[in-house]
Amino acid sequence: MQELSGQEHHTAARSCLAFLPAGAPSPHPSAAAQSSRSSSSTTCAAGPPLVDVDANLCHEALAADAAVHIDMARDVGVRQMVVPGSDLADSKAALDLARKYPGILYPTAGIHPYCVKDCGELEPAMSTLAELLADPLFTCVGECGLDFSEGFPEPELQLPFFERQVQLAVETRKPLFLHERLASRPFTDVLRAANAAPPGLPPCLVHCFTGTGSELSVYLQMGFYIGVTGFLLKKPHGNVLRGCLQQVPLDRLMVETDAPYLGFPGCRKGHSQPKRQYPNVPSALPLVVQAVADAMGVSALDVAAHSTRNARKFFGMPPA
Ligand SMILES: [Zn+2]
Repeated sequence: MQELSGQEHHTAARSCLAFLPAGAPSPHPSAAAQSSRSSSSTTCAAGPPLVDVDANLCHEALAADAAVHIDMARDVGVRQMVVPGSDLADSKAALDLARKYPGILYPTAGIHPYCVKDCGELEPAMSTLAELLADPLFTCVGECGLDFSEGFPEPELQLPFFERQVQLAVETRKPLFLHERLASRPFTDVLRAANAAPPGLPPCLVHCFTGTGSELSVYLQMGFYIGVTGFLLKKPHGNVLRGCLQQVPLDRLMVETDAPYLGFPGCRKGHSQPKRQYPNVPSALPLVVQAVADAMGVSALDVAAHSTRNARKFFGMPPA
C-alpha cells in the first residue's frame, strides 16, 4: 500500500471536512470557516453521520471542555460517541456524563489492563463491575484486554482481570470492548477458551488495532470487529496497518479517535493550538475516516456509512 504523501494528506484533510452537514449552523467560527472552504467538494457533502467508538471524554485532558468537544464533533458529523471506562471510577464517570447526553454518548464499564494495578483485589472489583453493568445504559463490557507494553502491570496480574471480564460479558451477553498490545497470542487464548462452550462470546470489538497483518487475519477469522484510529497516519508506525487494512471487510470496520490519545498532524483543526497532536479530539474523526478510505481504496462515504451502521448495531444505538 502506498504511503500518503504530505500533499495527499493535506488534500484528504480538506476533502473529509465536507462531512460537515451542509449549511449547519456552527458556534465555532473556525469550524464554520473550514466548512465553507470545503464546500467546493461535493463528494461527501451529504455524508452519513459518524460514530466515534472511542472518545475518552472523562480523561482529564478533555473533561473540563467535554461540552465543547461534543459540540465540535457534532458540527463535523460525529453524531454519537462511545465513552469507554478504564477503571471502576472512570466507568461511573462515563455513565454520569452519558446521562447528560442521552442518545449521543454511550458509556462502557471495564478495567483497562493498565489500571488493574490500582483496582485492589480481583473479587471485590469484579462484584462492583457486575453491579455497574446492571445499568442498561452500559451496553458493553470493557475496555478490557491485555497489554504487554513496557511499564504495564505484569501479565500475571492482567490475565485474571481480563478472564473475569470476558466471563462477565459471556454471562451478561453484553459485547466486549477489547484492548490488545503485544499480547495477541494470550489474548486470543483467553477469548477462544471463553468461546469454546455455549453460549460462547458475545460480539467483540478489538479497538485501536495496531498489530500485524497475521494478527488481523486471526481476529477477523474469530468474527471480531476492528476499530481503526489515526494511528495509521503515523509514520513509520502506521505503515503496517495501512498496508493490511484492505483485509478488513467493510461490515467489520469501526472508526475511532481514542481521544485524547493517538493524535496525528491536523487532528486539532478548529481548536486552540491546532499544531499540537495532544490532546486529540473527537472532531478529528472525519480525518480518520478519509485516511481509512485511502488505505482501503474505497470512498470515505463507504467507510462512513458502514462504520456507523456497524457501531450502531454493536452498541445498540438508535440513530441520532
Ligand atoms: Zn485501548
